[in-house]
Amino acid sequence: MVSVEEAERIILEHSKVYGAETLALDDCPGRVLAENIIADRDLPPFDRVTMDGIAIRYEGFRRGIRQFRIKATQAAGGQPIDIAGDDECIEIMTGAVLPPSTDTVVPYEEIDMAQGNATVKAGDVVARQNIHPRGKDKKQHEVLVPSGTLISPAVIAVASAVGKASLSVRKNPRTIIISTGDELVDIADVPATFQVRRSNNYALLAALKQYGVSADMLHLPDDAAIIGARLADCVRAYDVILLSGGVSMGKFDYVPDALEKLQVKKLFHKVRQRPGKPFWFGEHTNGALVFAFPGNPVSTFLCFHRYFVSWLKASRGITNRPPHAKLNTDFTFRAPLQYFLQVKLDIDPLGQLLATPVEGHGSGDFANLLATDAFLELPMEREEFKKGEVFPVWVFGRVM
Ligand code: AMP
Ligand code: MG
Repeated sequence: MVSVEEAERIILEHSKVYGAETLALDDCPGRVLAENIIADRDLPPFDRVTMDGIAIRYEGFRRGIRQFRIKATQAAGGQPIDIAGDDECIEIMTGAVLPPSTDTVVPYEEIDMAQGNATVKAGDVVARQNIHPRGKDKKQHEVLVPSGTLISPAVIAVASAVGKASLSVRKNPRTIIISTGDELVDIADVPATFQVRRSNNYALLAALKQYGVSADMLHLPDDAAIIGARLADCVRAYDVILLSGGVSMGKFDYVPDALEKLQVKKLFHKVRQRPGKPFWFGEHTNGALVFAFPGNPVSTFLCFHRYFVSWLKASRGITNRPPHAKLNTDFTFRAPLQYFLQVKLDIDPLGQLLATPVEGHGSGDFANLLATDAFLELPMEREEFKKGEVFPVWVFGRVM
């Protein structure tokens, strides 16, 4: 049996990189960049007008000119049109190139237009106002997004702007989710009175999807020979195997033995925690990693979010620092185990996360996950936890 810290350390020591692949931009969000995104031009690429109005030469305004003859109208996307004298202007639109003969933009709100002239009403025109100068944000050849960055919508915006229709991203591990248990039938089946439908595997599939990882799925009966044979195939075909069930002390919990017979080295079995104590973790000689979670749905859920997500992030080069939340009520937990308390999260008026316990009915009560957003990680060495104390929180739901 290991502590939560030891389990985490062992798991993070086995973080891995699985090479790179090229994906269409559309498929990139949530993945990790495996190349630098570089500015193909300055950003912005030209002196960009930021208000609809007129472009003038400031020198004319400084000398007292207030009425400017409108020489032409220039739309965004049009060639720049120059003025010939300080008493001329170009009617100009947001997004247009500033004509080189002008240097200042006065918005429509500050001018009157009549008979082909624009008269400036405002007295406080400032030279170079309402211009987003070329190269102000980034310079050509500058690294805009470094390799290793998680691809967010903002990264997609930058990639599109510099002409990247596809990106090199880190490959995900080839992943399979395996459920075990003779009592479990599939979604579409009608369970007998002594059966239940399996749900952990679908929950894991959905949770993986949130992290941009897809997975195959397999169900195994509680049969040592079948488990051994199918797992033998899986450790060859996959980088990561997420199992649920069959790792406890039950007579039909065949998974740990089967794995060890297949040269999957046990790195730990059992963690001093509740829920999820029977968690088993190991590595095959070929590098395949096996996360074998206990089958109780809340246990599977906790182990996935506390350990697998940390592993995935570490493998992606992201340090997983959980946010902290303030306990909203006194709480007692007496077992010598690290308790992961299910909590509902809110944001208090000072912007701090507030954790309200919603305990539920043990690790089989997966309906309680609907009422909660996170697991609050309470320190093992204590039994009493006071309202107002702050602890790490492993979020799986929505906070806002
Ligand atoms: P086990 O860890 O195999 O002893 O299973 C513990 C409990 O979790 C049992 O009540 C199982 O029926 C339940 N369980 C195991 N796997 C799943 C699953 N994939 N979906 C829903 N419940 C499960
Ligand atoms: Mg079972």
